[in-house]
Amino acid sequence: MKHTPFWWEDAPRETTIPETQPAKVDVAIIGAGFSGLNTAIILARAGCSVVVFEAGQLGEGASSRNGGMLGPSFHKLGIAGLINQYGKETTHGILRESIGFVDFLADFLTSKNIDADLKHTGRFQGALRQSHFEATQKRIDGLNQVCGEIAHMIQPKDQHLETGSTRFTGGVVYHMDAGLNPAKYHNGLIDVARKAGVIIVPYTAVQNLAKTSNGFNLTTRLGRVQADQVAICTNAYTGKELPWFRKRVLPLRSAIITTEPIPSDVMARLMPKSRMYGDTRRMVAYYRPSPDGTCIIFGGRASSLRDQPAANARNLHRSMCEIYPELKDTGISHVWSGLVAYTFDHAPHIGQHNGMDYAMGYCGSGVARSSYFGQKLAYKMLGDAEKGHTYFDNLDFQTKPLYSGNPWFMPMVLGWHRFMDRMI
Ligand SMILES: Cc1cc2nc3c(=O)[nH]c(=O)nc-3n(C[C@H](O)[C@H](O)[C@H](O)COP(=O)(O)OP(=O)(O)OC[C@H]3O[C@@H](n4cnc5c(N)ncnc54)[C@H](O)[C@@H]3O)c2cc1C
Repeated sequence: MKHTPFWWEDAPRETTIPETQPAKVDVAIIGAGFSGLNTAIILARAGCSVVVFEAGQLGEGASSRNGGMLGPSFHKLGIAGLINQYGKETTHGILRESIGFVDFLADFLTSKNIDADLKHTGRFQGALRQSHFEATQKRIDGLNQVCGEIAHMIQPKDQHLETGSTRFTGGVVYHMDAGLNPAKYHNGLIDVARKAGVIIVPYTAVQNLAKTSNGFNLTTRLGRVQADQVAICTNAYTGKELPWFRKRVLPLRSAIITTEPIPSDVMARLMPKSRMYGDTRRMVAYYRPSPDGTCIIFGGRASSLRDQPAANARNLHRSMCEIYPELKDTGISHVWSGLVAYTFDHAPHIGQHNGMDYAMGYCGSGVARSSYFGQKLAYKMLGDAEKGHTYFDNLDFQTKPLYSGNPWFMPMVLGWHRFMDRMI
């Protein structure tokens, strides 16, 4: 069993360690994931000199480790919760804008000729009991009213058309969702960024960031860089060198397994429409076929904040078999994990703090959103208010008293969710 992402088989990581960095740039970006690279490409195309620093190898963070599932990422608070926090106009704006995320990324991939195995599959979410089905129905009615027909309910009698699992009491299909290979997408972004003139410096953490009278000084292992503007794109990997941001994101570990190849007739039975999949458990689980349809990629919340591959593999295999009992003897080829960034209001954030531009806090749904936010961030930094506008602007990026970036309390919260799931 390998402890590296399945995706890296088809899209290997670079290992060259650079020995130089520029002394002065227009823009320095911290973090070479989807947020940072998308920001960099627009800025470089607009004529800026841009350097992107990455603490680890390229794709070290979540961007080459995720499940590759794309969707509008409708807000966890639900429409009522959103209206309560932000008012009706912003809520409707957020929901309608979110619908465009997948098409936005699909168009970007096409326009840049990036082959990332993108497939518009839709997503089936199974309801684990009747009350979940009813709650989902209510939520979908509300969403469809605001956004148009974005999803339809699957009655229990029809669910065999969507899934080979008998664990559900019907469910819902979201029409817009899609799947891709995130590491291929990430490698494609790196190529596009370099062609646009972006200098990417992996294995080089920004250790210190100081504001000056005319910009910023950044310190790395290679020395000092002067930049007129900086973009903070570190998401769940935000470190102590960025304390204001670190106090605002909750890094949680998410883990994934890939199964050994499964016979095609079994795959056709378990995932008849080769969609993206999830269910209504409190302990998030997400699953899908590999792009070539030969195995299942199954992810969920890791039980510890540390990477514990053996425990993650065991727990995820058990979780998968609750949905698909016939996989109990199917082996695992890969297990890996990464960090997702939750926020106290369950929303991603984009804006500026103390002269530093930032986009982060995608709450585990960031493949399409971080790409979209990255581009918005670039337009904001260029002073293009119209292209930079989003309904996610100006949401209060909250922290809590005594929280400094270590979510020590999360294992207890997750334990509670696990307990509640067992009550089903
Ligand atoms: C296991 C897993 C499964 C997921 N599945 C899905 C999914 O199916 N669908 C979905 O939409 N989303 C998913 N996500 C979330 C999604 O991957 C992220 O939201 C998205 O990749 C965030 O991109 P980013 O560029 O903002 O951050 P990242 O890709 O995490 O990049 C941030 C980078 O900043 C670097 N960094 C931090 N500090 C410094 C510093 N001081 N100097 C230099 N570099 C620094 C880090 O090394 C890191 O590489 C998943 C995440 C994980 C971990």
